[in-house]
Amino acid sequence: SNQVKVAIVTGANKGIGYAIVRNLALSYASSPSKQPFIIYLSARNESLGKTSLEQIKQEFVGRKLLQNDGGNIDIKFLKIDLTSKESINEAAEVVDREHGGLDILINNAAMAFKGSAFDSNVVRTTLATNFYGTLEMCNKFIPLFRENGRLINVSSTAGSLRILSPELRSKFTNPELDIDGLIKLMEAFQDAVDHGTWEQKGWPTQAYGVSKTGVTALSHILARRFKAEGKNILVNSCCPGWVKTDMAGPRAHLTPDQGAETPVFLALDEETVPNAPNGELWKLKQILED
Ligand code: NDP
Repeated sequence: SNQVKVAIVTGANKGIGYAIVRNLALSYASSPSKQPFIIYLSARNESLGKTSLEQIKQEFVGRKLLQNDGGNIDIKFLKIDLTSKESINEAAEVVDREHGGLDILINNAAMAFKGSAFDSNVVRTTLATNFYGTLEMCNKFIPLFRENGRLINVSSTAGSLRILSPELRSKFTNPELDIDGLIKLMEAFQDAVDHGTWEQKGWPTQAYGVSKTGVTALSHILARRFKAEGKNILVNSCCPGWVKTDMAGPRAHLTPDQGAETPVFLALDEETVPNAPNGELWKLKQILED
């Protein structure tokens, strides 16, 4: 169809998110699809986001990739702060107004405190961005998804179920777990940290890890829900690997472009993969058993 294909990448002013935007464009340009494609490079900081957008556009000049250069791709800025419901709302309204729908959402933005910082405030702040922010993105953008949509949550093997006690693990893997139940689990973690009882209750001394356990579980729940509703939206989560970014530091092994490979593969799999997978956790383009 002539309808524009629309993708959003959060936290894309730098790091893996930036590399995802860049590689979505490159990968799409080398696919046979002629459908116009618009990629929203989203960031919470407008000036950082727009500078990064200009950098990508500069790099692509003369490569017949962008619309004003004979190609079928456009890249635009979209402001989204995961900790602001208002900002997520406004962004969803923009996308709805401009395009009336959405095809690809890559929830990449996240934060981590440096080192082993751990207390009530660290947990609250980390969950607010990584878990509740990602959940709010899903809540606001899922209604916009068109047929054959792709929702990709960038998670981490740091959120492996192995960090939990067997009892908690079985709660997270319960096929009956729904979003309300998952929120209750996240609240139970916060509550246990607030009361100094988290170890006794089977939680690890890790805010970031638990936030990502939540993101991975959220992806499984959404995949199940869409399947049950007969909605054709595929939901997967992925770990990008250990990637040299401001979050992971210079000792990490992979480049941001390498870290972007799995999320880009999952976003554009209809161009490349028959029987695209659903409800899995991926790393290095492979499905992980958690
Ligand atoms: P970076 O710290 O380099 O980038 C994080 C991005 O998220 C930045 O654009 C940052 O914006 C943005 N962000 C942070 N908080 C918010 C918020 N409240 N609202 C909107 N955007 C926000 O990290 P990476 O590129 O390494 O991480 C990308 C993803 O990959 C994350 O989900 C991370 O957990 C995951 N990951 C990374 C690994 C690695 O080795 N690097 C390993 C496993 C998972 P700003 O610049 O304004 O702070």
